[in-house]
Amino acid sequence: MKAAAIQQHGGVEAIEILDLPEPAPRAGEVVLAVRAAALNHLDVWVRQGGRVDIPMPHVLGSDAAGTVAAVGKGVESVAVGDEVVLSPGMSCGACPHCRRGEDSVCANFQIIGLHTQGTFAEKVAVPAANALPKPPGLPFEEAAALPIAYVTAWRMLLTRARLQPGERLLVHGVGGGVGTAGLQLGRLVGAEVIVTSSSDAKLAKARDLGAAHTINYRTADVAAAVRERTDGQGVDVILDSVGAATWQTNFAAIRRGGRIVHCGVTTGAEATVSIQDLYWNQVTVMGSTYGSRDDLHALLRALAATGTRPALDSTFPLAQARAAARRMEDAEQFGKIVLQVGS
Ligand code: ZN
Repeated sequence: MKAAAIQQHGGVEAIEILDLPEPAPRAGEVVLAVRAAALNHLDVWVRQGGRVDIPMPHVLGSDAAGTVAAVGKGVESVAVGDEVVLSPGMSCGACPHCRRGEDSVCANFQIIGLHTQGTFAEKVAVPAANALPKPPGLPFEEAAALPIAYVTAWRMLLTRARLQPGERLLVHGVGGGVGTAGLQLGRLVGAEVIVTSSSDAKLAKARDLGAAHTINYRTADVAAAVRERTDGQGVDVILDSVGAATWQTNFAAIRRGGRIVHCGVTTGAEATVSIQDLYWNQVTVMGSTYGSRDDLHALLRALAATGTRPALDSTFPLAQARAAARRMEDAEQFGKIVLQVGS
């Protein structure tokens, strides 16, 4: 089978289209014939060596939707021919967190494509529990775009920050997958969404998706602009996947009693904080990683109920995985970049 894989860590040029043996399903697994797979910054981190001990060659990719091609022993939840969307988070099912249904804080949490072979391939073997029915009518490309970016944003805004209708939300870096998802889910909740980007073209697209205010962080002071647009109050919630570069801005842009939720550190992981500002302003800073199967189910229900569709930037054939990765690495995209695989 064809797969976009790496044989050593490195830049975009490390991505190769390889002929690899087709996986066979072990007990409790299914083999998915991949129809579409979406790119994420997680792939970049894996490719560049964020996890150094992965066996090579390693197939990249964590998001996918497709058709069940084979089932292993004991699998009853899905059958050959079923159209499914992959839930990339794998939990042990036995630890105290799993027993409470909090599978994304499982002590042994793993992610398909990070801890296992990934989805940028014609076939991938995954635990049957991770193959969820694809909502009817949802195209494979859109289904594949949902899990990592939209579930991450869902968990950040709904499960963690408990964003409420009418609240004001700041989303940094609206062009990235989580940023675009944050804007769309903020609107879905009924929040007033302020977004930032370095690109006026991306800010215009964000307005089309319902952003109330847009700020170009290259030409404007983000915190001052946020204060100006919130009657000096600051926003209720901030969604941040940026990390170090926006850390100080967040404390200047959040309202007293507000919530800041982090899911990534694309600009660095180290920062300092005034503990005094933190307690005096009663700010909550929280972390969030991916999400649970419950988060994915809740997301799918909310999207279906509101008719919200994920924003796709572009689609590439699997053979052009390197060009697709370059587009993301150059931050040219607005929304999800999706690979079309089988047909
Ligand atoms: Zn567990």
